[in-house]
Amino acid sequence: MNQSYLIKPVMRDFYPTAMYGQGVFIYDKRGKKYLDGSSGAVTSSIGHAVPEIIEVIYEQAKKISFVYRSQFTTEPAEKLAEKLNQLVFGEEDEYFSFFVNSGSEATETALKIAIQYWQEKGNFRKNKVISRWSSYHGITMGALSMSGHIGRRERFVSLLERLPTISSPNCYRCPFNQKYPSCQLMCANELETAIRREGADNIAAFIAEPIVGAAGGVIVPPEGYYQMVREICNDHDILFIADEVMTGIGRTGKMFAMEHWGVKPDIIALGKGMSAGYTPMAATLASGKVMKPILAGSASVMSGHTYSANPQSAAVALAVINYIEKNDLVQKSEVSGNYLMNLLKEVAVKYPIIGDIRGKGLMIGVEFVSNILTKHPFQKELSLTSKLVETARDKGLLIYPATAGIEGGGGDAVIIAPPINITKQEVDLLVNLFEKMVDEIQEDLSVQGVV
Ligand code: PMP
Repeated sequence: MNQSYLIKPVMRDFYPTAMYGQGVFIYDKRGKKYLDGSSGAVTSSIGHAVPEIIEVIYEQAKKISFVYRSQFTTEPAEKLAEKLNQLVFGEEDEYFSFFVNSGSEATETALKIAIQYWQEKGNFRKNKVISRWSSYHGITMGALSMSGHIGRRERFVSLLERLPTISSPNCYRCPFNQKYPSCQLMCANELETAIRREGADNIAAFIAEPIVGAAGGVIVPPEGYYQMVREICNDHDILFIADEVMTGIGRTGKMFAMEHWGVKPDIIALGKGMSAGYTPMAATLASGKVMKPILAGSASVMSGHTYSANPQSAAVALAVINYIEKNDLVQKSEVSGNYLMNLLKEVAVKYPIIGDIRGKGLMIGVEFVSNILTKHPFQKELSLTSKLVETARDKGLLIYPATAGIEGGGGDAVIIAPPINITKQEVDLLVNLFEKMVDEIQEDLSVQGVV
């Protein structure tokens, strides 16, 4: 193939042609083998070509692949919604599922459901959503309006809503120059300030990724943060939306990342790992509290897509969740995550360009700095993140590029998030390849006189 007519993101000009995958490995047309250390975009959480899933795809396709959601319901979609309801916080509350096709659609639907909830209660002014600077909630206009990710916003700013934004709970680069716990969680308190400034009467919801992904290189908030956020939302009558698109379905050592803090959101967005990349599938889960006035009022959510609740995708997502449960993968994600984290920390002490390693379960971020003491980032012109990703790929390891979570944008970070059924030997191989990559980059930077 000399000429490609496929529009690609241009992070790099050379794209290998993927031919097949097996477990945690992907093989390209030249026969080169890659360890999928990021599950693509933190998506292929049970690895590639799992026979049980392939079987379900075939069996469901033999029955029916498409019906339109306002003409039929299907068993796979009903069962998937029932399963998700069971999984969210052990059935203490009811959660209803609205199925969509991507994480962006899931967060955008969450935004719409939040606004509709207040309208059904007779309040037409509560339609703004507060979000955080280091955040990414999706690429469509509504989702992007709620995202702080400057690089992805800047071309479309004139079309985006200007929504209120607060600082991130980033202890490595505290926006308030404080130390935890003496900071008394100023980052959570800023939510209260923003609500007072905008007026609670104008705010529908606060949205947050439980653990920030692409826009922060994995930012895990300190203990107490979400408990305080939940209280502030309750006090001011504001819904709390958890964007679990990246963190949900076992990635962080819990089925839902919010379980780490025992805090229940009113609305949850899911995607990525929900169908583990076997088919496009995402969901917005709305709690009983949120659905009650909607069901009593218009009786339906004012949103939807042709492929919403597609039976083929629902069957696959259900099979993925069953596979995760049957193989105890949520717990394995925690155990393998701890093992991987310890090995990466051993690598980090040898290389001063690694400023920080953080994460939960198998969602780990590594931040790179030009000066480990001052935490000064590398110059943007170096495009270090791209170099890290490319060098790793050349060595047969796939990692995911992120920005480091410096408020206002910038900084170099990568995400390591392999399939959650990765074996110990495969983790060893991942770390070995990662160290080789860091070694080469550090050497290059020192030859250039940058460090
Ligand atoms: N929310 C979060 C937290 C994400 O990480 C992403 C994707 N990176 C999205 C939303 C958007 O999902 P999608 O790319 O499937 O539209």
